[in-house]
Amino acid sequence: MVRGVRLVILGRQGAGKGTQCMRLARHYVVPHVSTGDIFRASVKAGSEFGIQAEEYMQAGKLVPDAIVIGVVRERLCQRDAKARGFILDGFPRTADQAEALDEMLVAEGMPLDLTLDLEISEEDALTRLAARRVCSTCATIYSTARRPAIDWTCDNCGGEVVQRHDDTEEAICKRLADYNELTTPLIEWYTERHSLVQIGAYGTPDEVLTRMVRAIDARRCNEG
Ligand code: ADP
Repeated sequence: MVRGVRLVILGRQGAGKGTQCMRLARHYVVPHVSTGDIFRASVKAGSEFGIQAEEYMQAGKLVPDAIVIGVVRERLCQRDAKARGFILDGFPRTADQAEALDEMLVAEGMPLDLTLDLEISEEDALTRLAARRVCSTCATIYSTARRPAIDWTCDNCGGEVVQRHDDTEEAICKRLADYNELTTPLIEWYTERHSLVQIGAYGTPDEVLTRMVRAIDARRCNEG
């Protein structure tokens, strides 16, 4: 079986992080840990925690660090992540989250293999986000240009494919502004502390995936 991997994937909303992380998770047989998906599942389940997160998400605001860090800590301590690794999608997004993740991984003896930054311009991100559609059951991502085969029924699980509640123009602008202010500095942070590779988010999903897998495998090859 292919070796597992521990990755952080950065990239502005609309870069295709979710799509690529799902594919990378299948390729390396590791869990896809998306904080956005975890929060959406809690909202759907109507849990106490989901009720707290929903307010922030609807407004396109970041959920407070203390809550997010707790969620990620709990997930990374589960057996599958400890045994094979993980693909972190949507976390960290702030310097405090990055520091907390570093501490967590040092304490658990689980160093990152690599951080990848999926690059896309803000203008292209806006166009892609307006067209984005998501399966409400399994979170597979589609767009108005790349639809499921039958109506808006997910090819993967038969769930209903919809526009996300927080993909309104106002919430998208807020999320992109937060990304520029709070998450972009992490590119430098990771370049200084761990290795970071920037990958162009353009071309077909297969082309982007190939670029990412090459960068990951090249890195592991260098490490022996
Ligand atoms: P997007 O990348 O389009 O913003 P996500 O699915 O990653 O979407 O996240 C959806 C929402 O979940 C965010 O707008 C935010 O409210 C919350 N969220 C997800 N990850 C984090 C995080 N690391 N820190 C704070 N809030 C988060």
